[in-house]
Amino acid sequence: MISPIIEEKTIERLRAYINSAQRIVITCHKSPDGDALGSSLALCHILRRLGKDVVVVTPDMAPKSLEFIPGVRELVVYTKHELRARNVLKDAQLLFCLDFNSMKRIDRLAELVGPLNVRRVLIDHHLDPDDDFDISISFPESSSTCELVFRVLMQMGLLRMMDRHAASCLYVGLLTDTGGFAYSCDNPEFYEILASILRRRIDRIGLYNKAMNTFSADSVRLQGYALSEKMELFPEQGAALITLSKEELERFNYNRGDTETLVNKPLAIPEIYWSVFLREDADKIKVSCRSQGDFSVSDICARYFNGGGHFNAAGGDYVGSLDEAIAAFHQVLNDLFPDNDNSQEQSIQEQE
Ligand code: 5GP
Ligand code: MN
Repeated sequence: MISPIIEEKTIERLRAYINSAQRIVITCHKSPDGDALGSSLALCHILRRLGKDVVVVTPDMAPKSLEFIPGVRELVVYTKHELRARNVLKDAQLLFCLDFNSMKRIDRLAELVGPLNVRRVLIDHHLDPDDDFDISISFPESSSTCELVFRVLMQMGLLRMMDRHAASCLYVGLLTDTGGFAYSCDNPEFYEILASILRRRIDRIGLYNKAMNTFSADSVRLQGYALSEKMELFPEQGAALITLSKEELERFNYNRGDTETLVNKPLAIPEIYWSVFLREDADKIKVSCRSQGDFSVSDICARYFNGGGHFNAAGGDYVGSLDEAIAAFHQVLNDLFPDNDNSQEQSIQEQE
């Protein structure tokens, strides 16, 4: 049995909001991932089946690797279709904010969304959500926003609207945000939700292969290079660091999404329980952190890298050079493990 974790009065208010709105916009976080896109497109699909005019506006482009998700081609991408985004937002009667906890996460789109006089509904599973939403469906202990969209539909009595398309979208979020059903999926109800999705006869294996195991040749080579040449281990502190400069990314014809699961790889090493990946983007250093067990990387990202996320999976942006971001990582080591000699020379790679 899947329990109704969302308060009935919240569901009632949401039903009233949806009933009284015809033009609905759904948005999700920048650099959208499988959960952001899957939850947004599933909800879009279902609201359209209810006869609503729905547009999904993303702050920036979806990565090529996720173009297989049903509906991705119809996205209104703010960095590409600015005028269209402005127009649909101006006319919106209801705004869904999916898979992010703070307006900072939608980048420049926030300038447009901020002043809008429209009801806002948050559906999200990140820690510490902002409190300026009319309805906030925030469950940080949930596997994914796709799980929460499923629960919303279930409690609203709308599961009969979930066809193969919508189920495929939700499946992608459940799959990718749990690293292929590896973490954040201890709740037995997760598998009941999965069962309900599988009953819609989705192409489970095809979706798995596209979402989890499809990389370009350049990307596979880039990941091999990063692991062999650019991974430093700090076993005494259980840490790993991978860095890639702009020049290195260009050498491997980097496209967004190419390094998607790289930060997880060092966690395969028994003594490593947290891992940091620093990637030099055009205007900042993108930080990705993962951990296993009772070690919060969202705290690290919030404190040192202008970010946040989940306890075991978090990210942020570092404004500065790659070397400065590396220095910030060493500062983390020094602060968290003051008794260790945390100098760069101590890392395994440097010793060899
Ligand atoms: P990733 O490392 O895959 O980019 O992100 C891991 C998790 O951290 C995701 O849940 C993502 O939403 C969150 N996250 C990534 N980047 C940021 C950021 O810049 N700020 C915040 N608050 N969260 C982030
Ligand atoms: Mn998510």
